[in-house]
Amino acid sequence: MSTEHIEAHANHQGEAGGIQTKVLQKTAAGRPFEVATITRRALRENDVLIDVKAAGICHSDIHTIESEWGPAHYPLTVGHEIAGVVQAVGSQVSKWQVGDRVGVGCLVNSCGECEQCLAGFENHCLKGAVGTYNSVDTDGSITQGGYTQKIVVDENFVCRIPDELDFDHAAPLLCAGITLYSPIAAWDIKEGDQVAVVGLGGLGHMGVQIAAAKGAEVEVLSRTLKKAELAKELGAVATHVTTDPDFFRHNRGRYDYIISTISADFDVDAYLKLLKPRGVMIVVGLPPKAQSLKFGSLIMGSKVLTGSNIGGIAETQEMLDFCGEHGIGAYIEKIGVKDVDRAYERVVASDVQFRFVIDTSTFDEL
Ligand SMILES: [Zn+2]
Ligand SMILES: [Zn+2]
Repeated sequence: MSTEHIEAHANHQGEAGGIQTKVLQKTAAGRPFEVATITRRALRENDVLIDVKAAGICHSDIHTIESEWGPAHYPLTVGHEIAGVVQAVGSQVSKWQVGDRVGVGCLVNSCGECEQCLAGFENHCLKGAVGTYNSVDTDGSITQGGYTQKIVVDENFVCRIPDELDFDHAAPLLCAGITLYSPIAAWDIKEGDQVAVVGLGGLGHMGVQIAAAKGAEVEVLSRTLKKAELAKELGAVATHVTTDPDFFRHNRGRYDYIISTISADFDVDAYLKLLKPRGVMIVVGLPPKAQSLKFGSLIMGSKVLTGSNIGGIAETQEMLDFCGEHGIGAYIEKIGVKDVDRAYERVVASDVQFRFVIDTSTFDEL
């Protein structure tokens, strides 16, 4: 980690009256993070300036900044699990006041006019929603994300963090939380439903908590029993080991819903057999390679295989309110700005229970 400060001319976002802020950025894949100062845009009529208190580390951050999902725009700051306090508002902002506790997730803009946006699915904007980092914004600049002290965001892409949730435990809800909440709500998973959550990591541990709070009977399917106690604490009634072939043989037709957070190769047909007739398997984990599937696994029993990608802004607010009401937050390990390189190694090694959150006040020490 270099603590060298790079001046604002290094970025393309400079604008009259812009707001200077420290960020963690990379200038190329494979390089360590550096602390730099960039200029956020001056507040437009509908913008809010957020004093960031906590920033979660999502595996997508790593894929993006290491150019594993295509070439990234460097220098780049990632982070789309952002929690903080409104510090200033633009002249036309109506929803927020200075001092409000707010969060920002994966999106910071969308067209606002297409059928998806109008239906509240900004995440599926037909013109392409603007991501919180590494996206081309409407003014042509590249968005810079949440590993930062301050961020400027359109008021319509900001959500309220309920008073019951602290910033550290709330930040990961803005990506991991909504990723699981959206399909659980869309499929109306509820009391009486038998649900399997496959994989107990950053995503899975949110899925267990949310589905259990909806009243479902949740079981965790995992490669080992190592996290069985934690699974119980999160609300699961059992953990089953997927490396045991007997489990698949003895549990055909067990579940109404299977939520897969697996991001490696897996036997899709074997999991579909665990569903009841008309059961639904929801994938939110993204294996890098194509997975195979026999259509017979869907046709026999009229089963559904579906995916889900984050959620719209109104739904993200609904998720935060639900989590506030039910006392749901991410399980986190809090780290300082200088610990992020090491944290990335540990995320890649699945060595975190379950989310790293950067204490952005530690920028002041650098
Ligand atoms: Zn994410
Ligand atoms: Zn749109």
